[in-house]
Amino acid sequence: MKAVVVGGGIAGVFTAYFLRQAGFEVVGVGGEVAYPLVSLVLTLSMPNREDVELAGRSLEIYRRFVQPREITSVDILPRWVDLSRLATPHRVADSVEGIRLEEGEMAVITRDYLIPVRKVVKMLREELGFRDSYALLKVEDGRAYVVADGRRLEGDVVVLAAGYRNSILAREAGISLPLAPYECYAVVYIASRKIWRYSVGDYVLGWYGRPLAPPLYAAGDGCGRYGQGPPPNYVQRITNLIRQRVGRVVPLYLKTGYCEVAPHGGPLYGRHPEVQNLYVIGGFNGYGAMVGPALAERLADLIAGQGRDDPYRLERYMGTTSFDPCAVSERHDWGAVLLRNA
Ligand SMILES: Cc1cc2nc3c(=O)[nH]c(=O)nc-3n(C[C@H](O)[C@H](O)[C@H](O)COP(=O)(O)OP(=O)(O)OC[C@H]3O[C@@H](n4cnc5c(N)ncnc54)[C@H](O)[C@@H]3O)c2cc1C
Repeated sequence: MKAVVVGGGIAGVFTAYFLRQAGFEVVGVGGEVAYPLVSLVLTLSMPNREDVELAGRSLEIYRRFVQPREITSVDILPRWVDLSRLATPHRVADSVEGIRLEEGEMAVITRDYLIPVRKVVKMLREELGFRDSYALLKVEDGRAYVVADGRRLEGDVVVLAAGYRNSILAREAGISLPLAPYECYAVVYIASRKIWRYSVGDYVLGWYGRPLAPPLYAAGDGCGRYGQGPPPNYVQRITNLIRQRVGRVVPLYLKTGYCEVAPHGGPLYGRHPEVQNLYVIGGFNGYGAMVGPALAERLADLIAGQGRDDPYRLERYMGTTSFDPCAVSERHDWGAVLLRNA
């Protein structure tokens, strides 16, 4: 059996990896790896148990290739948030050295992991023989194939794993998907030594941050309209928020990246109901490094005939192919829980 995988990011390379383990001949086509940050954060502090389960499994998978670096995770939440759903060991604190907390707020302390994602993806791309080409998806008579470098690539299975370009490639092929692209940003700062130890999710003020190589720290928030560029005063706004918590930080530059979201705010995977050999994995928004490898494993199981039902199956969301990406609450985000309970 032959699989053609489009997209050489986390979702594409791990799907290819597991398909090859299942005995498939794999042809990977994936443009350059363009992660805005060298290491991405994997947290087990998420409101949904299914996501925590996927993140835990992804961590096990990463450990086959690299040694993730452990850091302290500080989630700042209002005191009234119900933590009974947090399926990971945690400690609740009223104060954290180097971070200002106000009355009525709590810090939920867990352990996060910095994953050198760029390195892992590059390693797997090389090992699996991904070609560095741009692919077009084509659908004819209910079957998918791929065109890359002027050549037609046929597979028993075609996997679409092209990140924020999934819905664009699908539309060009005349089919639709419940996915939408958006812009996401990170501001890189010089920050004090105290904060390098922490990955912060501030769900009261609305920003998140993580250490890069000392003395650099990255922080950002939510969602921008695709193609519009950062909103005016973005750097100033994030800088004001982060300063309220940690004091002086010096902004260096703004990095723009592209993300993709599905209507339920989580990732999805599965077979396209109208195209017999086309499988899709995407919609990872801000947590593809956390859950991507484990979801890729589930997709490979599904393709190999051992699928399971879960909240991430594509079929559940096919009815919603047009929606506003910035109106979606991201599943991994405690902020979404706050909104539901407010
Ligand atoms: C600033 C920023 C910070 C982030 N921080 C974190 C974090 O700390 N933790 C976390 O879990 N997530 C984080 N994310 C989100 C994470 O990067 C994404 O969820 C993840 O990269 C999605 O993986 P993917 O494989 O679906 O897509 P991508 O990683 O975007 O990979 C898609 C690949 O497909 C290729 N491609 C696209 N179109 C084609 C085509 N036509 N032909 C061939 N190849 C194609 C692209 O070149 C790319 O290599 C962050 C994102 C940004 C922007």
